Amino acid sequence: MKMPVMFIGHGSPMNIIEKGRITNGWIQKAKEIPKPRAILCVSAHWFTMGQYVSTAAAPETIYDFYGFPEELYQISYPAPGAPKLAEQAANLLGSETIKDSERGLDHGAWCVLNSMYPEADIPVFQASVNRLNSPWKSFQAGQKLNALRNEGILIIGSGDVVHNLHLLNWQMQGGYPWADSFDRYIKEALVSHNIEFVLNYQQAGKEEQNSFYYRDHFDPLLYCLGAVSDTDTVEVFNDERVFGSLSMTSYFWREK
Ligand code: ZN
Repeated sequence: MKMPVMFIGHGSPMNIIEKGRITNGWIQKAKEIPKPRAILCVSAHWFTMGQYVSTAAAPETIYDFYGFPEELYQISYPAPGAPKLAEQAANLLGSETIKDSERGLDHGAWCVLNSMYPEADIPVFQASVNRLNSPWKSFQAGQKLNALRNEGILIIGSGDVVHNLHLLNWQMQGGYPWADSFDRYIKEALVSHNIEFVLNYQQAGKEEQNSFYYRDHFDPLLYCLGAVSDTDTVEVFNDERVFGSLSMTSYFWREK
């Protein structure tokens, strides 16, 4: 059986200690699928010049966020790495891919996995988001990873469709109108498998351009989309915007 692909809107690291609707959505999806042999996370928080893959045997937990409660810095996620599979993924991504044996797990990966797989007993490795990629290139990188799904590897893209920290409003419950509108544009394109619309996301509208200034949180979605097969079905979950300019909307693709 081909493993599913998931894009998770990870939002604020506070999700991990607040727990609730959002983390329940992640946990539910983990329950619906067979236990993966390993997990490949394409994380927004590894935004690099060039394509990297982490090959550490025992990746450390990275606390790459600032000003949050002490409790968050006490959580660790001691999952083993998967050096051999990571090497295989790096080879699939192409000869210029850099294998990084020092890199640990950033919070894009462990904040999500800590809820989904709290035992931390599944090997995890990461692929970076290559900031030199055009949207099309990120999509193509994902296509190269599709084969890993036949080997029991769960591919998770961790980012946010809407992610603008400059315009974040901690008092706001939902999303700004343009955030909702952009999120809807992407959702409608994904549900109808209209890849062109996703890759040409600028056509969503002028105000919608506020959804992000850099594609660090958006491109994990494009890597996922590349790894999806034409015959996969898509489910949308955690469909909400928070603090004005963050989207939690998540996607789950699996074989029919
Ligand atoms: Zn993030």
